[in-house]
Amino acid sequence: MDFSPASPKERMIYYSEEWNPKDVPEFIIRSIKEKEFAFDHEGNGYTDRYNAFGNIHGLETKVKTLNPYAVCASTAYYEHPEQRAGWRGAELVFDIDAKDQPVRSCSCAIGSICEKCLEEAKGLALIIIDTLREDFGVKEVYLAYSGRGYHIHVLDKNAEPLENRQYMLDYVMGSIMPMDFQMVIGYAKTWRKMFALTLSKMKQEDFLFLNKNVANSAIANKELIIKNLNARMKNFISTPGIGKTSQDKILNEVMRLSGLTVDGKVTIDTKRILRLPTTLHSKISMICTLAKHPESFDPFNEAVPRFVLERAESNAPK
Ligand SMILES: [Zn+2]
Repeated sequence: MDFSPASPKERMIYYSEEWNPKDVPEFIIRSIKEKEFAFDHEGNGYTDRYNAFGNIHGLETKVKTLNPYAVCASTAYYEHPEQRAGWRGAELVFDIDAKDQPVRSCSCAIGSICEKCLEEAKGLALIIIDTLREDFGVKEVYLAYSGRGYHIHVLDKNAEPLENRQYMLDYVMGSIMPMDFQMVIGYAKTWRKMFALTLSKMKQEDFLFLNKNVANSAIANKELIIKNLNARMKNFISTPGIGKTSQDKILNEVMRLSGLTVDGKVTIDTKRILRLPTTLHSKISMICTLAKHPESFDPFNEAVPRFVLERAESNAPK
Protein backbone atom coordinates (compact mmCIF):
# COMPACT_ATOMS: atom_id res chain seq x y z
CA MET A 1 0.00 0.00 0.00
CA ASP A 2 1.06 3.55 -0.70
CA PHE A 3 1.24 5.55 2.53
CA SER A 4 2.53 8.80 1.07
CA PRO A 5 1.03 12.01 2.53
CA ALA A 6 -2.66 12.70 1.95
CA SER A 7 -3.38 15.43 -0.57
CA PRO A 8 -5.93 18.18 0.28
CA LYS A 9 -8.37 16.43 -2.08
CA GLU A 10 -7.89 13.08 -0.32
CA ARG A 11 -8.46 14.77 3.04
CA MET A 12 -11.68 16.24 1.69
CA ILE A 13 -12.80 12.82 0.40
CA TYR A 14 -11.98 11.22 3.76
CA TYR A 15 -13.83 13.76 5.88
CA SER A 16 -16.87 14.07 3.61
CA GLU A 17 -17.33 10.40 2.67
CA GLU A 18 -15.72 8.23 5.31
CA TRP A 19 -15.34 10.06 8.62
CA ASN A 20 -18.33 9.77 10.92
CA PRO A 21 -18.37 11.99 14.02
CA LYS A 22 -20.43 9.29 15.77
CA ASP A 23 -17.26 7.16 15.77
CA VAL A 24 -15.36 9.68 17.94
CA PRO A 25 -14.80 7.77 21.21
CA GLU A 26 -17.53 8.15 23.78
CA PHE A 27 -14.96 9.13 26.44
CA ILE A 28 -14.16 12.24 24.36
CA ILE A 29 -17.76 13.07 23.44
CA ARG A 30 -19.00 12.93 27.02
CA SER A 31 -16.52 15.62 28.07
CA ILE A 32 -16.40 17.53 24.80
CA LYS A 33 -17.45 20.79 26.50
CA GLU A 34 -14.38 20.65 28.71
CA LYS A 35 -11.78 19.87 26.07
CA GLU A 36 -9.62 22.12 23.98
CA PHE A 37 -9.26 21.11 20.33
CA ALA A 38 -6.26 21.96 18.19
CA PHE A 39 -5.98 21.91 14.41
CA ASP A 40 -3.08 21.64 12.06
CA HIS A 41 -4.46 22.88 8.76
CA GLU A 42 -1.59 22.37 6.34
CA GLY A 43 1.00 20.24 8.11
CA ASN A 44 2.84 23.18 9.68
CA GLY A 45 1.93 22.43 13.27
CA TYR A 46 -1.02 22.99 15.58
CA THR A 47 -1.36 26.71 15.04
CA ASP A 48 -5.14 26.77 15.49
CA ARG A 49 -5.57 26.27 19.25
CA TYR A 50 -8.19 27.28 21.85
CA ASN A 51 -11.10 25.69 20.00
CA ALA A 52 -14.03 24.67 22.16
CA PHE A 53 -17.24 22.96 21.09
CA GLY A 54 -20.51 22.71 22.94
CA ASN A 55 -21.29 19.43 21.23
CA ILE A 56 -20.08 17.05 18.54
CA HIS A 57 -21.89 18.99 15.79
CA GLY A 58 -19.63 22.00 16.34
CA LEU A 59 -16.59 19.79 15.88
CA GLU A 60 -18.19 18.12 12.86
CA THR A 61 -18.88 21.42 11.14
CA LYS A 62 -15.31 22.65 11.60
CA VAL A 63 -13.75 19.36 10.47
CA LYS A 64 -15.97 19.00 7.41
CA THR A 65 -15.44 22.61 6.39
CA LEU A 66 -11.67 22.69 6.75
CA ASN A 67 -10.60 19.04 6.13
CA PRO A 68 -7.63 19.54 8.47
CA TYR A 69 -4.24 17.93 8.13
CA ALA A 70 -4.45 16.84 11.78
CA VAL A 71 -6.73 17.24 14.82
CA CYS A 72 -5.90 16.92 18.53
CA ALA A 73 -7.93 17.07 21.73
CA SER A 74 -6.59 18.08 25.11
CA THR A 75 -6.09 15.39 27.72
CA ALA A 76 -7.06 18.10 30.22
CA TYR A 77 -10.55 19.18 31.18
CA TYR A 78 -11.12 22.93 31.51
CA GLU A 79 -13.89 25.09 32.77
CA HIS A 80 -13.06 27.44 29.88
CA PRO A 81 -11.36 25.35 27.21
CA GLU A 82 -11.52 28.28 24.77
CA GLN A 83 -9.07 30.06 27.09
CA ARG A 84 -7.38 26.93 28.45
CA ALA A 85 -8.44 28.24 31.86
CA GLY A 86 -9.99 26.63 34.89
CA TRP A 87 -8.05 23.35 34.73
CA ARG A 88 -10.17 20.58 36.26
CA GLY A 89 -8.04 17.50 35.76
CA ALA A 90 -6.58 15.42 32.96
CA GLU A 91 -6.70 11.92 31.58
CA LEU A 92 -3.70 9.82 32.48
CA VAL A 93 -2.01 9.00 29.19
CA PHE A 94 0.93 6.92 28.04
CA ASP A 95 2.49 7.57 24.66
CA ILE A 96 4.30 4.66 23.05
CA ASP A 97 5.92 5.76 19.83
CA ALA A 98 7.16 2.87 17.70
CA LYS A 99 9.84 4.96 16.03
CA ASP A 100 11.30 6.13 19.35
CA GLN A 101 11.57 2.72 20.98
CA PRO A 102 15.06 2.37 22.51
CA VAL A 103 15.28 -1.26 21.37
CA ARG A 104 13.52 -2.92 18.49
CA SER A 105 14.05 -6.39 17.11
CA CYS A 106 13.50 -5.19 13.52
CA SER A 107 16.18 -3.41 11.55
CA CYS A 108 14.37 -0.08 11.09
CA ALA A 109 16.53 3.03 10.97
CA ILE A 110 15.93 5.69 13.63
CA GLY A 111 12.73 7.54 12.78
CA SER A 112 11.20 4.85 10.58
CA ILE A 113 8.72 2.13 11.44
CA CYS A 114 7.58 -1.20 10.03
CA GLU A 115 4.78 -3.67 10.78
CA LYS A 116 7.06 -5.50 13.20
CA CYS A 117 7.95 -2.53 15.39
CA LEU A 118 4.34 -1.33 15.38
CA GLU A 119 3.34 -4.79 16.60
CA GLU A 120 6.04 -4.60 19.29
CA ALA A 121 4.76 -1.18 20.37
CA LYS A 122 1.28 -2.68 20.71
CA GLY A 123 2.68 -5.62 22.71
CA LEU A 124 4.31 -3.16 25.10
CA ALA A 125 1.05 -1.18 25.38
CA LEU A 126 -0.89 -4.35 26.23
CA ILE A 127 1.58 -5.21 28.99
CA ILE A 128 1.26 -1.68 30.42
CA ILE A 129 -2.54 -1.93 30.31
CA ASP A 130 -2.34 -5.25 32.22
CA THR A 131 -0.14 -3.61 34.84
CA LEU A 132 -2.53 -0.68 35.19
CA ARG A 133 -5.47 -3.05 35.64
CA GLU A 134 -3.79 -5.57 37.93
CA ASP A 135 -1.61 -3.35 40.10
CA PHE A 136 -3.50 -0.06 40.10
CA GLY A 137 -7.05 -1.37 39.78
CA VAL A 138 -7.69 0.80 36.75
CA LYS A 139 -11.00 -0.02 35.07
CA GLU A 140 -11.60 2.44 32.28
CA VAL A 141 -8.66 2.28 29.92
CA TYR A 142 -8.49 2.60 26.14
CA LEU A 143 -5.89 1.86 23.52
CA ALA A 144 -5.67 4.12 20.47
CA TYR A 145 -3.46 3.62 17.45
CA SER A 146 -1.80 7.00 16.92
CA GLY A 147 -0.35 6.45 13.45
CA ARG A 148 3.23 5.92 14.60
CA GLY A 149 2.49 3.97 17.76
CA TYR A 150 -0.11 3.79 20.51
CA HIS A 151 -1.72 6.01 23.12
CA ILE A 152 -3.14 4.57 26.32
CA HIS A 153 -5.94 6.70 27.80
CA VAL A 154 -6.86 6.07 31.44
CA LEU A 155 -10.12 7.66 32.52
CA ASP A 156 -10.43 6.46 36.12
CA LYS A 157 -10.69 9.40 38.48
CA ASN A 158 -8.46 7.66 41.03
CA ALA A 159 -5.66 7.51 38.46
CA GLU A 160 -5.75 11.24 37.85
CA PRO A 161 -3.86 12.76 40.80
CA LEU A 162 -0.84 14.56 39.41
CA GLU A 163 1.54 13.61 42.18
CA ASN A 164 1.17 9.94 41.24
CA ARG A 165 2.09 10.25 37.60
CA GLN A 166 5.86 10.02 37.72
CA TYR A 167 5.56 7.07 40.10
CA MET A 168 3.08 5.29 37.81
CA LEU A 169 5.27 5.97 34.80
CA ASP A 170 8.38 4.51 36.46
CA TYR A 171 6.32 1.60 37.71
CA VAL A 172 4.78 0.54 34.41
CA MET A 173 8.13 0.87 32.59
CA GLY A 174 10.04 -1.08 35.23
CA SER A 175 12.77 1.55 35.21
CA ILE A 176 13.62 1.43 38.93
CA MET A 177 15.16 -1.49 40.80
CA PRO A 178 12.60 -3.13 43.11
CA MET A 179 13.46 -3.56 46.79
CA ASP A 180 13.22 -7.31 46.24
CA PHE A 181 12.85 -8.38 42.62
CA GLN A 182 12.15 -11.98 43.67
CA MET A 183 8.76 -11.12 45.17
CA VAL A 184 6.01 -13.10 43.46
CA ILE A 185 3.55 -10.27 42.84
CA GLY A 186 3.37 -6.48 42.70
CA TYR A 187 6.08 -4.23 41.30
CA ALA A 188 8.70 -7.02 41.29
CA LYS A 189 6.54 -8.99 38.86
CA THR A 190 6.05 -5.99 36.56
CA TRP A 191 9.77 -5.21 36.72
CA ARG A 192 10.69 -8.77 35.70
CA LYS A 193 8.21 -8.66 32.83
CA MET A 194 9.61 -5.40 31.50
CA PHE A 195 13.23 -6.46 32.03
CA ALA A 196 12.65 -9.67 30.06
CA LEU A 197 10.82 -7.78 27.30
CA THR A 198 13.56 -5.18 26.85
CA LEU A 199 16.39 -7.70 27.01
CA SER A 200 14.65 -9.97 24.51
CA LYS A 201 14.66 -7.18 21.90
CA MET A 202 18.31 -6.15 22.38
CA LYS A 203 20.58 -6.76 19.42
CA GLN A 204 24.36 -6.75 18.95
CA GLU A 205 24.51 -2.94 18.69
CA ASP A 206 22.61 -2.53 21.96
CA PHE A 207 25.47 -4.19 23.84
CA LEU A 208 28.19 -1.73 22.87
CA PHE A 209 28.51 -0.71 26.52
CA LEU A 210 30.24 -4.05 27.13
CA ASN A 211 33.52 -5.26 25.73
CA LYS A 212 33.12 -7.46 22.68
CA ASN A 213 33.58 -10.87 24.30
CA VAL A 214 31.20 -10.11 27.14
CA ALA A 215 28.69 -8.66 24.68
CA ASN A 216 28.82 -11.88 22.68
CA SER A 217 28.27 -13.90 25.85
CA ALA A 218 25.32 -11.69 26.78
CA ILE A 219 23.72 -12.21 23.38
CA ALA A 220 24.37 -15.94 23.46
CA ASN A 221 22.91 -16.16 26.98
CA LYS A 222 19.90 -13.88 26.55
CA GLU A 223 17.36 -16.67 26.69
CA LEU A 224 19.05 -18.29 29.68
CA ILE A 225 19.10 -14.96 31.55
CA ILE A 226 15.37 -14.49 30.87
CA LYS A 227 14.67 -18.06 31.95
CA ASN A 228 16.62 -17.50 35.19
CA LEU A 229 14.77 -14.24 35.76
CA ASN A 230 11.39 -15.88 35.25
CA ALA A 231 12.47 -18.53 37.76
CA ARG A 232 13.26 -15.62 40.15
CA MET A 233 16.88 -16.72 40.57
CA LYS A 234 18.94 -14.36 42.70
CA ASN A 235 21.93 -14.00 40.34
CA PHE A 236 19.94 -14.39 37.16
CA ILE A 237 22.45 -12.56 34.93
CA SER A 238 25.32 -14.70 36.21
CA THR A 239 25.86 -16.88 33.14
CA PRO A 240 29.04 -18.12 31.39
CA GLY A 241 31.34 -15.29 30.30
CA ILE A 242 29.61 -12.52 32.26
CA GLY A 243 31.45 -11.34 35.39
CA LYS A 244 30.04 -9.38 38.30
CA THR A 245 30.90 -5.92 36.95
CA SER A 246 29.33 -6.71 33.59
CA GLN A 247 26.25 -8.13 35.30
CA ASP A 248 25.71 -4.79 37.04
CA LYS A 249 26.23 -2.94 33.78
CA ILE A 250 23.65 -5.14 32.03
CA LEU A 251 21.18 -4.68 34.88
CA ASN A 252 21.47 -0.90 34.75
CA GLU A 253 21.45 -0.65 30.96
CA VAL A 254 18.33 -2.79 30.55
CA MET A 255 16.49 -0.68 33.16
CA ARG A 256 17.68 2.53 31.48
CA LEU A 257 16.33 1.32 28.13
CA SER A 258 13.03 0.20 29.69
CA GLY A 259 12.73 3.74 31.06
CA LEU A 260 12.76 5.11 27.50
CA THR A 261 9.90 3.01 26.17
CA VAL A 262 7.17 5.52 27.04
CA ASP A 263 7.44 9.24 26.28
CA GLY A 264 7.35 10.44 29.87
CA LYS A 265 6.74 14.08 28.95
CA VAL A 266 3.29 13.17 27.65
CA THR A 267 2.32 11.44 30.90
CA ILE A 268 3.64 14.19 33.16
CA ASP A 269 2.43 17.18 31.13
CA THR A 270 -1.19 17.68 32.06
CA LYS A 271 -1.89 20.26 29.36
CA ARG A 272 -0.98 17.96 26.53
CA ILE A 273 -2.96 17.59 23.33
CA LEU A 274 -3.23 14.18 21.68
CA ARG A 275 -4.36 13.13 18.24
CA LEU A 276 -8.13 12.64 18.11
CA PRO A 277 -9.16 9.05 17.28
CA THR A 278 -11.06 8.85 13.93
CA THR A 279 -9.02 11.70 12.42
CA LEU A 280 -6.41 11.40 9.74
CA HIS A 281 -2.66 11.24 10.27
CA SER A 282 -2.11 12.96 6.93
CA LYS A 283 1.66 12.55 6.82
CA ILE A 284 1.34 8.77 6.63
CA SER A 285 -2.27 8.56 5.38
CA MET A 286 -3.56 6.40 8.20
CA ILE A 287 -6.41 6.92 10.64
CA CYS A 288 -5.85 7.44 14.35
CA THR A 289 -8.09 4.62 15.59
CA LEU A 290 -9.47 3.42 18.90
CA ALA A 291 -8.65 -0.31 19.15
CA LYS A 292 -11.97 -1.94 20.07
CA HIS A 293 -10.26 -5.31 20.38
CA PRO A 294 -6.69 -4.44 21.40
CA GLU A 295 -5.34 -8.00 21.28
CA SER A 296 -6.29 -8.55 17.65
CA PHE A 297 -6.09 -4.94 16.46
CA ASP A 298 -4.14 -4.58 13.24
CA PRO A 299 -3.69 -1.04 11.92
CA PHE A 300 -3.17 -2.32 8.39
CA ASN A 301 -6.69 -3.76 8.50
CA GLU A 302 -8.47 -1.21 10.65
CA ALA A 303 -6.73 2.15 10.23
CA VAL A 304 -6.31 2.50 6.48
CA PRO A 305 -8.55 5.09 4.81
CA ARG A 306 -10.40 4.09 1.65
CA PHE A 307 -8.47 6.55 -0.50
CA VAL A 308 -5.27 4.60 0.21
CA LEU A 309 -6.91 1.37 -0.94
CA GLU A 310 -8.12 3.20 -4.04
CA ARG A 311 -4.59 4.44 -4.72
CA ALA A 312 -3.49 0.79 -4.76
CA GLU A 313 -6.27 -0.08 -7.21
CA SER A 314 -5.47 2.76 -9.56
CA ASN A 315 -1.79 1.74 -9.58
CA ALA A 316 -2.50 -1.96 -10.13
CA PRO A 317 -1.52 -3.37 -13.52
CA LYS A 318 -4.52 -3.45 -15.84
ZN1 LIG B 1 10.64 -1.68 12.45
